[in-house]
Amino acid sequence: MDCIFCKIIAGEIPSKKIYEDDRILAFHDIEPQAPTHAVIIPKEHIESANALNSDNAEIVAYIFSKIPEIAKTLGLEKGYRVVNNCGPDAGQTVFHIHFHLMGGDVLGKMA
Ligand code: AMP
Ligand code: ZN
Repeated sequence: MDCIFCKIIAGEIPSKKIYEDDRILAFHDIEPQAPTHAVIIPKEHIESANALNSDNAEIVAYIFSKIPEIAKTLGLEKGYRVVNNCGPDAGQTVFHIHFHLMGGDVLGKMA
């Protein structure tokens, strides 16, 4: 499958890993939009939030259950923003569902 995030999971493309277990992977974004910018992905390939359903959506709760630990690892004690872009109008460029975890400074208002 020609998916850049699946290739990162497989170790075919290098990444700066922050957290990994059997279900999810967190790594530093290659083009950070904040002083600290991580990407959190499920190891299961799901195209976008629009492909979630009652059979696969539990992974989203699992990702959020790990976010406090990942944020702590990154030193984001003063807060952070979690963003999911879904589809072209939102600027989704990688069609493997992911959550941006951003912080490290006072973030501006949402667009
Ligand atoms: P989105 O635009 O919401 O689809 O987010 C995709 C994100 O993946 C962007 O912030 C990219 O900078 C990031 N990205 C793309 N390729 C890589 C890579 N090889 N390693 C780390 N982050 C990447
Ligand atoms: Zn994928």
